Amino acid sequence: MSLEGHRFGRWVLIERVNHPKYKMWHCKCDCGNEKDVNENNLKRGKSISCGCHRKEKLHKLKSVHNCEPRKLYNVWLAMRRRCYLETTRGYEHYGGRGIEVSEVWRHDFEAFRDWSLSNGYKEGLSIDRIDNDGNYSPENCRWVDRKTQNNNKRNVRKIEIKGATKTLAEWAQISGIKHNTLTSRLAYGWTNEELLTETEGKGTNGTTTKRKIKSKPASKVG
Ligand SMILES: [Zn+2]
Repeated sequence: MSLEGHRFGRWVLIERVNHPKYKMWHCKCDCGNEKDVNENNLKRGKSISCGCHRKEKLHKLKSVHNCEPRKLYNVWLAMRRRCYLETTRGYEHYGGRGIEVSEVWRHDFEAFRDWSLSNGYKEGLSIDRIDNDGNYSPENCRWVDRKTQNNNKRNVRKIEIKGATKTLAEWAQISGIKHNTLTSRLAYGWTNEELLTETEGKGTNGTTTKRKIKSKPASKVG
């Protein structure tokens, strides 16, 4: 049975073309373009148009959102890599110290895109965490130019302990206590002096144990 006149996607098969290796068809696309296409690619759906279909889709996305989604998509990918891919350059400043991507963004580019487009995203701007110790989340992020971002990086919280003033990240490095632990200790109201306290037992995250002295098991109290 000849496939002449058959339609595959936007292609209509005009006539067989002689080819030493492949079954080729001279095809005409709905948009008017003509091209020789491998029959196998037509049958497998690998070729459904001259390329105009993809171009139209992309153009539609661009005009709807008035930006280049690809660039925004790359920002999203890079953000996730910084937080979750240990081999990424600079990982130690992000995932390495507990910075995460909010659940609403982590697996959902469209949520990130929609937030970005309604929160001042423009090409050339960078995504900036307002609290440098906080996560990538809609509440903690904004789009800024490079200068603002660098200023913000310089404004990281500094903490004085026994006369020395250092950033939380530096204190974490010095003490060997996780940055995240220090952050939550601060959030729980620990004083600067208490911050670097070694607590007993392993796996202490600082949110529950503060006392240095072992307390009796709860069941025996009272
Ligand atoms: Zn076409």
